[in-house]
Amino acid sequence: MKLALVGIGKIALDQHVPAIAASPDWELAATVSRSGTVEGVEAFTRIEDMLEARPDIELVSLCLPPVPRFAAAQAALRAGRHLMLEKPPGATLSEVHALADLAQAQGVSLFATWHSRMAHAVAGAKAWLAGKTIREGRITWREDVRKWHPGQDWIFEPGGMGVFDPGINALSILTEILPDPVHLTGAELDFPANRQAPIAARLAFTQNISADFDFRQEGPQTWDMEFFTDAGKLALRMGGNVIEIDGQPAGGEDSIMGEYPALYARMAELVRGGVSDVDLSPMVQVSDAFTLGRRNIVEDFEF
Ligand code: NAP
Repeated sequence: MKLALVGIGKIALDQHVPAIAASPDWELAATVSRSGTVEGVEAFTRIEDMLEARPDIELVSLCLPPVPRFAAAQAALRAGRHLMLEKPPGATLSEVHALADLAQAQGVSLFATWHSRMAHAVAGAKAWLAGKTIREGRITWREDVRKWHPGQDWIFEPGGMGVFDPGINALSILTEILPDPVHLTGAELDFPANRQAPIAARLAFTQNISADFDFRQEGPQTWDMEFFTDAGKLALRMGGNVIEIDGQPAGGEDSIMGEYPALYARMAELVRGGVSDVDLSPMVQVSDAFTLGRRNIVEDFEF
């Protein structure tokens, strides 16, 4: 099946292009980007032009930042194409609900992806936690925004989500693996004085679960989750790719390279099955943090 990739920036080039090249299901048939291209692939600068010129393209995969994404998503669905959304699936919850309704009305598949849920150890962690009682959970998600989002000013604009852009990956794992659903009970958000989105956040959830997100971590990066249960301790490290039980290695693989191939395989399954996959529970937690969060002003941030 043919697909078009829209928004040729960091994640499109780092992950989508190699995952599609290795996929038995998908062929990269076109790109849409104002300046980005992929060698050897027909390039458009406007999605409307691509949709008109290439009726043979069945899937549109959007790698734009969340704020400019809705108009492109709507155009693709209105043109009867299946649609795959990078995380977070939109700038607001209501716009993603609107897309889900539109996909259903058009009879096409919509996939709101969460790449971290495809990390090597997530399914194993979910299986291990099933039936256990969580006594405490600690999430530490600290990374260097200059390394992972070089010069991406959009991330600190309204709708860019700031530190929740990576933090929502942790929340996508949390909402997938817990035996019982959680909800947020408190939050503290640190906004640089010259920016519109937080650079750090501390969150509290039901089930005695807490999260510490920070975009200012230099040196080694930390993407860890620890759960203390009535039957031992589980740790997920490397963004959900490695698992430890009671301090001992228990599987997984220290590589993020399995995540996007798994997303494209799942997209193919959705299209073949004629269904959609739109779970907004990670984004609900972020929205609740903005609703309930206490706001601190911290020092200016420049890339
Ligand atoms: P990026 O490098 O800034 O790329 C996004 C591309 O979208 C840009 O290169 C730009 O290409 C296009 N674009 C169209 N309208 C834009 C606008 N108003 N502002 C900025 N760019 C615009 O961003 P990215 O890191 O690839 O992130 C894109 C999405 O992927 C985000 O939702 C992010 O959460 C997700 N993601 C990123 C990473 C990561 O490590 N960076 C990892 C996983 C997921 P043209 O100028 O050519 O149009």
